[in-house]
Amino acid sequence: MYRVASIEGDGIGPEISRATRLVLNAVNTRLGIRMEFMDVEAGDSALARYGRALPEKSLEMIRNSHVCIKAPIGESAADVIVYLRRLLDLYANIRPAKTYPGVRGLKDGIDLIIVRENTEDVYSGLEYDIGSDAKIAIKVTTRKACMRIAEHAFRIAEARKGKRSVVAVHKANLLRKTDGLFASCCNEVASRHPSIRFAHMYVDACAMNLIRNPEEFDVIVTMNMYGDILSDEAAQVIGSLGLAPSANVGDEYAIFEPAHGSAPDIAGKGIANPLSLILSAGMMYEWLARRYSDVKCAEASKLIEASVCNVLSKGIATPDLGGKSSTDDVAYAIVEEIR
Ligand code: ATP
Repeated sequence: MYRVASIEGDGIGPEISRATRLVLNAVNTRLGIRMEFMDVEAGDSALARYGRALPEKSLEMIRNSHVCIKAPIGESAADVIVYLRRLLDLYANIRPAKTYPGVRGLKDGIDLIIVRENTEDVYSGLEYDIGSDAKIAIKVTTRKACMRIAEHAFRIAEARKGKRSVVAVHKANLLRKTDGLFASCCNEVASRHPSIRFAHMYVDACAMNLIRNPEEFDVIVTMNMYGDILSDEAAQVIGSLGLAPSANVGDEYAIFEPAHGSAPDIAGKGIANPLSLILSAGMMYEWLARRYSDVKCAEASKLIEASVCNVLSKGIATPDLGGKSSTDDVAYAIVEEIR
């Protein structure tokens, strides 16, 4: 029995969480996977209720679970997900972006993964006032974090049926010490993986190439902030942020969540695309499959991916993808496919 901590989130979070739960229940019933969901309070609603975005009880529930699935959180995101990534040492943020049938992106044939370092950089929370008119933020880069994220990226490139290439994205020409360390660690790890093609690219060039020739990328490994920005760009290149799943992975635990935010502009309208969270659930099964050598979970991951593709091929899609379907229409269509 898997204990899954589930955070429903803010904004569109509750809508896409409900839709995803329907899909998870259908998958578990079809494949006989035993899964218990523990609803964990976190985010803006928890802050309003308890004065803390991540109350102690919620943290305890997360610690007592096998894995967590989480919808986006609003203003208090830094106090929940950024905090959890560091606390649980979820050092790799995996953000795939691929072309889906029936979805018009900027180009066809895209299948890339952004592997983003998830624990340091300017997200370390080291911001200071220098008097009232100047502020500084400190960019933290350690050899340990650079080596393990690079190793993770090369292992992903080896396991994929992709182009077997890794591009390290940074700005080492300007930030010679911090990004320079990242670049040299990537070189060191690359030398241990001679079967993978390896190149460096400055982040500004990468932003341009993701629009000019996104289909040429396979695995991109990059630092925390660059990964945050480039993954939103990659999601729009394949059609919508609503199609962008992600995984925060450590050695012992993982949290799966959409790459996007809580989208307050469309909250409550029933039009949010639930696929980002449903595809994140697919990644969750894949992780469970590997961690617990569970063939049923491996099957579940493939079933979700195939069902999403079938539904999109039929033109069942939310307005962000040019469709007319609601969040629930998409979820029910996927449930039908799964059954
Ligand atoms: P954050 O800073 O928390 O990442 P953001 O300011 O980048 O948030 P998002 O909430 O990610 O903003 O939304 C950016 C745009 O993408 C908004 O117009 C939003 O409506 C749209 N969007 C995001 N997620 C979805 C979704 N699942 N379905 C449809 N549109 C979405």
